[in-house]
Amino acid sequence: MRTTELPSKTKLADCVLCQQMGGRLLYENSFYRVIAVDANGPDAHFPAFYRLIWSQHVVEMTDLPYTQQLMAWQAISIIESCMRKVLQPHKMNLASFGNMVAHLHWHFIARFEWDSHFPNPVWGQALREVPMQQLQEVQSLFPQLDALLQQKLSELRPFAPIDSPPDR
Ligand SMILES: [Zn+2]
Repeated sequence: MRTTELPSKTKLADCVLCQQMGGRLLYENSFYRVIAVDANGPDAHFPAFYRLIWSQHVVEMTDLPYTQQLMAWQAISIIESCMRKVLQPHKMNLASFGNMVAHLHWHFIARFEWDSHFPNPVWGQALREVPMQQLQEVQSLFPQLDALLQQKLSELRPFAPIDSPPDR
């Protein structure tokens, strides 16, 4: 298949990311969607937590045609840049595991020295209570961040077709 073709929309009945949005939708195109993690869910105590979720059910990034891998990387760069610009976190944490839900997705978590786990990973041991004032200050920036993400992602244009990585 040519790499610019739209992915098939096959959905797996037993995959939560095929069946559910996965959070509050910020942006969606034919290839992927960007969501903010549910503020009432189990990860809500982190100040800013977003996910890039591929539309098609694939397990690994390298299951995608190379041009779609580049599209993913372009979106990853945009999301991290927007989060840094608006939130000014101490550190950005990016992760792609898929051990529990083997549907390609990335986590983007803005980390602050005052957050509940810093400097531990967010899935590690909590070290403190989240200070509400700092948390609310970050949350007050979400509308600005949402708007910037939507603008920058919608401005992206597809790459010219490339059939394989340079080293293949
Ligand atoms: Zn899936």
